[in-house]
Amino acid sequence: MTLTTRPRGTNDVGPGQIELWHELEERIRRVCAAYGYQELRTPMFEHTELFQRGIGEATDIVEKEMYTFQDRGERSLTLRPEGTAPAVRAFLEHNLGSGSLPVKLYYFGPMFRYERPQAGRYRQFTQFGLEALGSGDPLLDVEAILLPLELYKSCGLSGFEVEINTIGCPNCRPGYRQELVEYFQPRVERLCSSCQNRLHRNPLRLLDCKVESCQEVLAGAPEITKHLCGECSEHFAQVLAYLDALGVEYRLNPRLVRGFDYYTKTVFEVTSQELGAQNAIGAGGRYDGLVEELGGKPTPAVGFAVGVERLLLALQGQGKLQPEPKGPSAYLIHFGGDTKLKAAQVAHFLRGQGLWVELDYLDRSIRAQMKAANRLGSRYAVIFGEEELSRGRLMLRNMQDGQEQEIDLEDLKQLAKILGECGK
Ligand code: AMP
Repeated sequence: MTLTTRPRGTNDVGPGQIELWHELEERIRRVCAAYGYQELRTPMFEHTELFQRGIGEATDIVEKEMYTFQDRGERSLTLRPEGTAPAVRAFLEHNLGSGSLPVKLYYFGPMFRYERPQAGRYRQFTQFGLEALGSGDPLLDVEAILLPLELYKSCGLSGFEVEINTIGCPNCRPGYRQELVEYFQPRVERLCSSCQNRLHRNPLRLLDCKVESCQEVLAGAPEITKHLCGECSEHFAQVLAYLDALGVEYRLNPRLVRGFDYYTKTVFEVTSQELGAQNAIGAGGRYDGLVEELGGKPTPAVGFAVGVERLLLALQGQGKLQPEPKGPSAYLIHFGGDTKLKAAQVAHFLRGQGLWVELDYLDRSIRAQMKAANRLGSRYAVIFGEEELSRGRLMLRNMQDGQEQEIDLEDLKQLAKILGECGK
């Protein structure tokens, strides 16, 4: 019989890997708490319309990457490709803006995009993201960068770079779009087919095309700077001033644009030297128009999303975030029959005290059980010998130094205490 394998572009995360995920999740919680971000969990699927309106019809994601399906009630639903539109939807649906502002939320979970899978690019991947809604303060843009940087640093990551740009707002961007179209139009033959397609619908996206022939054309493309309105230039200047004051290193990249229509003003991306073509480990920006676009009142906002698999790849590349392998506190060695029954009772008691305890389920020899205890890295073996049991005792053996001591079977609390102390 042939095996059914996992779908292309998806991953299983099991023992050996999951410990890293737990460690990272723990750090995410810690850093979010320090910045006052609270967790938001939204559904894995949403009404398709949310993403069409939120991300924009002329984006790669909406045009060709969404997992869209009809449910049995003939509603069009989409597996979420990103977390910002759902967060804004929840913000509006639960009227979160009625309390104190800004509202600071974070999420952690799977996203789905029908992309061409390769190292670091999957069809189901995980994002940790944050959204701060209800303030246009440039300091919040900067904090949306600082928080993920804090996370990267706390994991021991080095060799990453912050790139930053501004893409203006609906007042000043149309003039720039126009200039871009005028620049690219006479050079259209030299552009790749997707850039040719996007030229009139989404000319800013041409700026980050990686195709070589497009790169050559791009070299002479106009920059946004001279089109920026007073408010956008002032905002950007303040963002940079805060970054400087806080000692954050960054690189201005006038070609940096994002794949979503909702961004305004500041956009940023963090890349890691550790990764190949898919080197972005996080990206974000300000989206002052999205809340209104989705039916709310004008509400400035800013966010950031970290690609968790990519961050873990970068960390593994640097040998970072390797939690100590943990073993059980004790392996209970029995001889079958009544001794197994007794071992099951003791295991039940010890596990109830929160201790990790293992025992044999394969009727193995004592030697094989000892080997299993060693392989798991168990700190103690507890031996349920018939002779000891007949005297109401158990034999406790320290697996490191081989020292043995007898324990009173009536005093399991003492056993739990010894096992618990060695785990500290
Ligand atoms: P985006 O939502 O496109 O701005 O992406 C934010 C971050 O999510 C990127 O910087 C990547 O780290 C990660 N990411 C985006 N798409 C994928 C994907 N298909 N597979 C793995 N990670 C991804």
